[in-house]
Amino acid sequence: MRSLPYFCRGEVIHGFGRGSKELGIPTANFPESVVDNLPADISTGIYYGWARVDNGDIHKMVMSIGWNPYYKNTKKSMETHVIHTFKEDFYGQILSVAMVGYIRPERGFTSLDELIAAIHSDIEEAKTRLDLPEHLKLKEDNFFKTSVSTTANQILNGHRL
Ligand code: ADP
Ligand code: MG
Repeated sequence: MRSLPYFCRGEVIHGFGRGSKELGIPTANFPESVVDNLPADISTGIYYGWARVDNGDIHKMVMSIGWNPYYKNTKKSMETHVIHTFKEDFYGQILSVAMVGYIRPERGFTSLDELIAAIHSDIEEAKTRLDLPEHLKLKEDNFFKTSVSTTANQILNGHRL
């Protein structure tokens, strides 16, 4: 995918309550404006990369880009699981992500256990791959050095901002 690494940021909004948190794998949802800006060559599936909430620390992440059932699968959604245990939810805060690589396409699961196992294996894969020097250096990218303002009109999306 030519567009990788892809950098974007946006406010964390409420998802469609599929109960990801109950599965132990909360996913922070981006608003439509961020999803609509995705380059055409970014296909649906599971990605890994770096994430930062507001001006906090930079953590590893896995992201699912899929078809949003809330909009009868006509719109995409972008859901990020940050590989870190947060003390509190961060709805309304600004999530900055660097999508670094692709793990696998979307797929169906025959049971919840199978789905959870797949996500855990995606998380392990992300952790390992992000330790590669070429990926570690993206953590130091200027994108994460700029201080993020929570005033909505300063939210920027796109490649290498
Ligand atoms: P929703 O359907 O609203 O997205 P989830 O069950 O997926 O609900 O929970 C997502 C929310 O959990 C995020 O918006 C965020 O505020 C919070 N959260 C707490 N820890 C994490 C984490 N490690 N990764 C992503 N979101 C987290
Ligand atoms: Mg979610």
